[in-house]
Amino acid sequence: MSDDQQRTKQAKKVAVIGSTGSIGKQTLDVISASQGEFEAAALVAKSNAELLLEQAKKYRPEIVGIVEESAADFLRENLPENTELVVGKTALSAGSSFGDTVLNAVVGFAGLEVTVGTLKAGKRLALANKESLIAGAPIVQSARAFPGAEIVPVDSEHCAIHQCLKAMSAVSEAPSRNTADVSVRDSFKPLAPTSVSRLLITASGGPFYGRKKSDLAKVTLDEALTHPTWNMGPKITIDSSTLMNKGLEVIEAHELFGVPYDGIEVVVHRQSIIHSMVEFCDGAVIAQLSSPDMRLPIGYALSYPDRFSHPYGKLDFTQLNRLDFGVPDPDTFGSLALAYEAGRMGQSAPACLNAANEIAVQAFLDSKISWLQIEEVVSETLNRHNLVKLTDIDDVLYVDKEAREMAEKIAEQLAP
Ligand code: NDP
Ligand code: MG
Repeated sequence: MSDDQQRTKQAKKVAVIGSTGSIGKQTLDVISASQGEFEAAALVAKSNAELLLEQAKKYRPEIVGIVEESAADFLRENLPENTELVVGKTALSAGSSFGDTVLNAVVGFAGLEVTVGTLKAGKRLALANKESLIAGAPIVQSARAFPGAEIVPVDSEHCAIHQCLKAMSAVSEAPSRNTADVSVRDSFKPLAPTSVSRLLITASGGPFYGRKKSDLAKVTLDEALTHPTWNMGPKITIDSSTLMNKGLEVIEAHELFGVPYDGIEVVVHRQSIIHSMVEFCDGAVIAQLSSPDMRLPIGYALSYPDRFSHPYGKLDFTQLNRLDFGVPDPDTFGSLALAYEAGRMGQSAPACLNAANEIAVQAFLDSKISWLQIEEVVSETLNRHNLVKLTDIDDVLYVDKEAREMAEKIAEQLAP
């Protein structure tokens, strides 16, 4: 058997759910760069049939899935032979049943099924889709307990924290007597490590850093969609402009690492070179630095606990003159405080926050409300929400639906 055949035989299979989006496309870049270490076993998208076909021809997955029925005929007619096609909502579960690792790159709450299904199947979930973890936290946490299930974060801040915690545990040879270190070795099951005093989540600050609320009444779509350091899909780009993305990341960090909200802080760092930091109880801080390129965290999530060589993360320190830090402005970016509030309330509050935010962001993208009104819609929806306990996935779906309806009404009332 040739070296190439040997490599192909041993390639780890990756299901890329949301393959036509920003993270999905970069995941395929990483798979190409891995030179046979990984292969795309499944590709799933919502409606972009043309790009999906192009990807299917190049990566030859076993299965292709498309959610929108109207886009299916084009694929039926053009897909390579032997490629299975799944159409409709079942494409999500069918796609994620393939492969050793599922990379959830769907945007928004629609990713919940992929997250829960992958964990219940006892597989690795490379998680970009933060919304599913935030909205369905109690259900996702139970699913994490299934044998073989593990989450390795793709979100750059959480991937950085994962690496910082791992860096500490890598040098701890003797079995530790405290639960903290056990949690670190155990792929970060949600135990609060006593040796960790703070998680410091870095934020670029988005396009409106340094601006006052009064300056932002007439923000245009183009201004809000222009991110200073990252090139991402529209929803997360708007979330970055309001700092809701950072708020969602605070809840995501709490759920992933089990650290209480008082121990999670946001630090503005304009250059996006430090992707996050962990402060330990003796005051030492471990940070992860690399170029702002999502292909590094994607590669990490696929290859963990190993790493493979690729060009995406390298820094040129001769060009790096300074690293700046600041604090988020709570008056201009009220969404951050709303997320802390919903996180601390727990139960159904994060699901409500997430649903209201998805509706508000879409209303802004559709030019129905102003940028400042995104925060108003989320705040008012959260105010009117009756907290309930989430015991199963139906509870989550119910809260999500109810919050969306409420947020839609509020947005309509605010619309000029
Ligand atoms: P994009 O909007 O660029 O891509 C979204 C992908 O999901 C597309 O493939 C889209 O298909 C698919 N999709 C959308 N809705 C559905 C649905 N209902 N069912 C199935 N598939 C669907 O988003 P991003 O790549 O920017 O973000 C994806 C996730 O990753 C988000 O949760 C985001 O927060 C997170 N993330 C993104 C980062 C980034 O740099 N982009 C950084 C960190 C986290 P189609 O193209 O056919 O519409
Ligand atoms: Mg992030």
